[in-house]
Amino acid sequence: MNPFSAVPPDWTNRSRHAKGFACPSCGGSSHIATDVWINRRSPVYTELHQRKWQEFYACECGCAWWAWSSDRPRQFPADPPNITS
Ligand SMILES: [Zn+2]
Repeated sequence: MNPFSAVPPDWTNRSRHAKGFACPSCGGSSHIATDVWINRRSPVYTELHQRKWQEFYACECGCAWWAWSSDRPRQFPADPPNITS
């Protein structure tokens, strides 16, 4: 897969806008996405004059979703901590 391809993959056509940067269907994060495409060709400027763009994710549950890059958590959670107690 090429996230920076100039041509959007077919599955982006049926993507839904996700709130909270997670799959609106199963709640899965972008980590479990099976494919990703980033629409860097049409950035939008926020009110703070920062660029943001659409990031499309194909979730492993079959749902496709997108969210603004500015909504991406600054730091993804690492692997689940080991439960020792
Ligand atoms: Zn999902």
